[in-house]
Amino acid sequence: MSAEADAATPTPSPAAGPKPAAGHIRLTSHSGGFGALPIRWDAPTAAERGPVVGTTSKRAHRNVIGTHSGSYSVYRALAVAAGALSRQHKADLTNTMPTDLIGPYPQWSEPGKIVSLDPWGASVADVFATELAAGYDIRPTIAVTKAHVILPEVLEALQKGRLKADGKFLTAGGAAMVTKAAIEPVWYLPGVARRFGCSETDLRRVLFEETGGMYPELVTRSDLEVFLPPIGGQTIYIFGNPRDLANPAVELTARVHDECNGSDVFGSDICTCRPYLTHAIEECIQGAQRGGVGLVAYSRKEGRALGEVTKFLVYNARKRQVGGDTADQYFARTECVAGVQDMRFQELMPDVLHWLGIRKIHRLVSMSNMKYDAITGAGIEVGVRVNIPDELIPADARVEMDAKMAAGYFTPGVVPDAEELKKAKGRGLDA
Ligand SMILES: [Zn+2]
Repeated sequence: MSAEADAATPTPSPAAGPKPAAGHIRLTSHSGGFGALPIRWDAPTAAERGPVVGTTSKRAHRNVIGTHSGSYSVYRALAVAAGALSRQHKADLTNTMPTDLIGPYPQWSEPGKIVSLDPWGASVADVFATELAAGYDIRPTIAVTKAHVILPEVLEALQKGRLKADGKFLTAGGAAMVTKAAIEPVWYLPGVARRFGCSETDLRRVLFEETGGMYPELVTRSDLEVFLPPIGGQTIYIFGNPRDLANPAVELTARVHDECNGSDVFGSDICTCRPYLTHAIEECIQGAQRGGVGLVAYSRKEGRALGEVTKFLVYNARKRQVGGDTADQYFARTECVAGVQDMRFQELMPDVLHWLGIRKIHRLVSMSNMKYDAITGAGIEVGVRVNIPDELIPADARVEMDAKMAAGYFTPGVVPDAEELKKAKGRGLDA
């Protein structure tokens, strides 16, 4: 095994397919960084900031820890291992440019404003054309496109007259016109550490240890300050003109939503996630039709970022406990299984709002005090908070809603008292 494995690693012929396991193991911990371009985070222009290079094919060019595609980087490794993907494959970015230009906005270079995504990530083919031509494998970490979104709840709102088709934001067939963007995480480690109030050294060591030693560079390469973590990213849906997001004079309706596959996709009725999401989309469409703009920012933080296995274990613990599923035990049961109530830590969430240039959210479609505190703490003004209408809360989700309101979630109504929280409201497992 050689630490200077780059030169010794045979270059597979793309046509013949890779021989993934051949040659030396390519260590990352002691490579010299020869030819790597510097990154100056928070720099005002793309040229001064420099590109994020997470390629695995030309290791000397790498200027980050980790690689692209978030959690899917592991599937990429599988594809290489299976011989299906050439290690040397370089993305052909022809015609992949964003449908809508986002920024640049002043927030992009205000120190500490954005630490968990690359604001230039959508436009690398443009702003780093010279470096790409010089042979650097620079990949977009953001993609912006357009779509028609058709949801049964929106169709129902049309039929009931709550929404009106205008052919511009909403078609008669119930399709909402959106601009959407997918965003991969790009962490500037000094900034992330500051956001969480810990030292960068501690953050690096804990990330290294708690991923089972997955990225030795976290502890051996303090000169590399940017980390592409193997986690899910986020998707944003914009209703109306994306440029209007940065104009505080234009009414902005926004929801920041954390993934809940069981409810969002499969309609599970133990929580309010999908009803709240579709309600927010309805609000966003109405907002756009009033001359404003709407935004849904969707983060891959399944089950309060505890993951779905933990979430389902908690469901069972809640429903099997003595006295049944009650709001007063809602957070306690999660804590018993996971050790914490919540791992979403909204501290990084406002970054995407800064990327979009947002300074004011006129209507925040969320009851979460954690999201509200994170947004206002990041210097973004919030007008009114819009709660989920009572009639949209599934019966089995009453436990969650009561527990959250008692814990400080925003509600214009009555906060349930201790007696109310003790009443079993959730269904049993066999019901
Ligand atoms: Zn949910």
